[in-house]
Amino acid sequence: MVRVMPRDSLYILCLSLLSAIALAQTPPSNPLAPYISVSEPVIALTHVEIIDGTGVAPVADQTLIIDHGKIASMGPSASAAIPAGARVLDLRGHAVYPGLVGMHEHLFYSEPRTHALNSLIVSDSADTAPRLYLAAGVTTARTTGSVEPYTDLEMKKEIDAGEMPGPDLDVTGPYLQGDPPLIPQMHALAGPEDARRTIDYWVSEGVTSWKAYMTITPDELKAAIEAVHAHGEKITGHLCSIGFTEAARMGIDDLEHGIAVDTEFFPGKEEGKCPEGAAKQMAGSLDVSSAAVMAMVHELVSRHTAVTSTLAVFESFVPGGPPMDLLLREQNSMVPAAWTSVLTTRAEIEDNAARSYEATLLKKEMQFEREFAAAGGLLLAGCDPTGYGAVLPGFGDERNLELLVQAGFTPEQAIQIYTRNGAEFLGREDRIGTIAAGKQADLVVVSGDPAEDIKAVEHVEIVFKDGVGFDSAKLIDSVQGMVGLR
Ligand SMILES: [Zn+2]
Repeated sequence: MVRVMPRDSLYILCLSLLSAIALAQTPPSNPLAPYISVSEPVIALTHVEIIDGTGVAPVADQTLIIDHGKIASMGPSASAAIPAGARVLDLRGHAVYPGLVGMHEHLFYSEPRTHALNSLIVSDSADTAPRLYLAAGVTTARTTGSVEPYTDLEMKKEIDAGEMPGPDLDVTGPYLQGDPPLIPQMHALAGPEDARRTIDYWVSEGVTSWKAYMTITPDELKAAIEAVHAHGEKITGHLCSIGFTEAARMGIDDLEHGIAVDTEFFPGKEEGKCPEGAAKQMAGSLDVSSAAVMAMVHELVSRHTAVTSTLAVFESFVPGGPPMDLLLREQNSMVPAAWTSVLTTRAEIEDNAARSYEATLLKKEMQFEREFAAAGGLLLAGCDPTGYGAVLPGFGDERNLELLVQAGFTPEQAIQIYTRNGAEFLGREDRIGTIAAGKQADLVVVSGDPAEDIKAVEHVEIVFKDGVGFDSAKLIDSVQGMVGLR
């Protein structure tokens, strides 16, 4: 049946088109204004607890002065001078820590599934993801694998131009994936020359970081590392066909997810092949404190190969996880089909709890991350909003901080992993990653005391980026019901 549009609605449609054109021609006011709660050039955060990102204990009752986007000074509130004309925020009962440097922050989301449509497809979340990252305090983000590199590069331009709220983006190129490509949105490399060609092209388009993926061949990875380094950029990997030790020796800069995806300890692993069942075997029998694993840890540390912790996405596969209170915080942001899909999958995981090895695997991953950091390794972190959609941008980063504490790090160390360590990896530690005079005023203000109870990181109130204070709740409200759609 064809429905003819009644004359009235045509008229309304024309009118709204006209007003859209008229709106577009009005000189734009600041498009970020609806999300900004603190915009004065000089700001005094008074009576606040500072957790500075270096891993040391917090300092209570401080006054921190922001001046034109930079941290000007900080010291005891009792003796601090407040510049004339400063906007003063009394932050008794609040803490401030550096803007998070998220190192596994995709701008896409796993699409909802049904029984009939059950394969993994992801949709670019160009509108929603940057807002949710910023709302959680992520002021710098590496995207760690892109399915729409042009979209992600365009979002970066809009964010940099102050047209869109979001973190400073380090845009990662398309996945450097072998054959088969796992999901149809990935290109399967045809060999080392294809890897070089892909990297040269996307670097010329503005991509600033790289990620190798599960079925890449050793020859392709070697060529990719060489090409990326020739451009002065860095490459990480979520590997399977190649073990951590081998990749570190090739010169890879970072390894995603940690030991849970390392296949080198799987008996019968074939050179350059991604084996089936390695995670299950690892959960069943690998001793993380064994000499073989520690040799891998020391190889990574000695070659300055970083590791990115993504505990939140692993937890989502553990029966009973992620906690329902986390999911309920995420619910309003999600399109209803995504919410239903997440609950269905979570229930299926619980139904199969008796056969699940995911809880053991998560424990081993946590132990590995502790050993790696204790041996002097550079541990980074990010939320990885993939899996079956239970981990959302930003919310997942807050959960990851909590899980790092569950893994045995102090809250101050967990914050350091998420701030200074990321800045160090990106070579930006002179500008971001810690709270110190002269640094960019990228700061997260939360109510409560994360050093006392890490759950306080869920109570983000203001996120300063370059000294501009964003209202976390308004950023979250602005994406209502849209994650999974756009
Ligand atoms: Zn990922």
